[in-house]
Amino acid sequence: MPLADSLRRPLRDLRISVTDRCNFRCRYCMPREHFDADHEFLAREDILTYEEITKIASTLMPLGLAKLRITGGEPLMRKDIVKLVRMLRDLNGDVDLAMTTNGVLLKRHAASLKDAGLDRVTVSLDALDTDLFQSMGDTHHSPEEVMAGVDAALEVGLQVKVNMVVQRNVNESQVVPIAAFCFERNIIPRFIEFMDVGSTNQWELDSVVSGEDIRSLLAQTYGEVNTVSPDHPSDVAKRWKTEQGHMFGLIQSVTAPFCGDCSRARISANGSMYTCLFANEGHDLRAMLRFGANATDIEAAIRTIWTARKDRYSEGRKEHKEPKPKIEMSFIGG
Ligand code: SAM
Ligand code: SF4
Ligand code: SF4
Repeated sequence: MPLADSLRRPLRDLRISVTDRCNFRCRYCMPREHFDADHEFLAREDILTYEEITKIASTLMPLGLAKLRITGGEPLMRKDIVKLVRMLRDLNGDVDLAMTTNGVLLKRHAASLKDAGLDRVTVSLDALDTDLFQSMGDTHHSPEEVMAGVDAALEVGLQVKVNMVVQRNVNESQVVPIAAFCFERNIIPRFIEFMDVGSTNQWELDSVVSGEDIRSLLAQTYGEVNTVSPDHPSDVAKRWKTEQGHMFGLIQSVTAPFCGDCSRARISANGSMYTCLFANEGHDLRAMLRFGANATDIEAAIRTIWTARKDRYSEGRKEHKEPKPKIEMSFIGG
């Protein structure tokens, strides 16, 4: 029977973080001063195996799950990730199976991901300008590597979207170039307001470029833009279309929160379930699995967690006093 939380929101969408490691150190996500050589990443034995991940996903499937997203950290850094894609696809031929990646390793893996049954990739790309790309990601990789990943994914027939986090006085100049890059390929760019996830990225309201401002920037280049109705109420991006018919999305977690339709749960790489991106604490499913819980036990636990859920962090952002440290996005999965 489908599940609903205390605000009547279903559990439709599961995001699975397969690693807390990353080959980038994006300033807004894993600033190097916190994620340096002394940072303790999860030990291999603490990370869920692919069998354990699949077991959790299979328990959730009959409860109404429609979307699975593999994320991280950087999911393409996890060994044999293609094997997990195949296992999840074998579980259910219809579930919408996606991955979020920084794209650097995508060219190498695109064909085998598609073969294994992946439907879609969302590629994060914050700048086409090399200096800006490298300073935002604190990386030696280049935007060309990511662009090659996007093209490889398109070539093998994966659906592709591009995510760009926009920060005031950092990369507003890249909004139009990234839109142009996507429009040329007939793919949808999604512009994300910089969010106050985690506790290390020095977020402040002044560094958020609102979706409204991004829309104006695009309208200056592309002319009038019009709203497009969502495919599903739980879609995070509000969609817009230019006069030429190019679609783009705005993810306005700060200026226009969408908690009312939030149907997303997250599993961290070490097997805790989080019912909100801004949670302070998770629910340990790994311990249950490793103490021999069967599918019925896990289902009962997830039902209890979800039924009690009342998260709506973004809608109440202004009222929050700074509480306990929030979980980092690289850990919980974007
Ligand atoms: N490493 C992969 C990637 O970058 O696509 C997947 C994990 S990453 C945490 C998932 C998404 O979260 C990325 O699109 C990233 O840009 C976004 N993200 C991370 N920190 C953010 C923040 N503070 N505000 C908004 N988006 C953020
Ligand atoms: Fe890594 Fe993605 Fe976070 Fe950047 S946003 S540091 S690529 S996990
Ligand atoms: Fe969902 Fe929490 Fe984000 Fe609101 S703040 S949309 S409840 S993840």
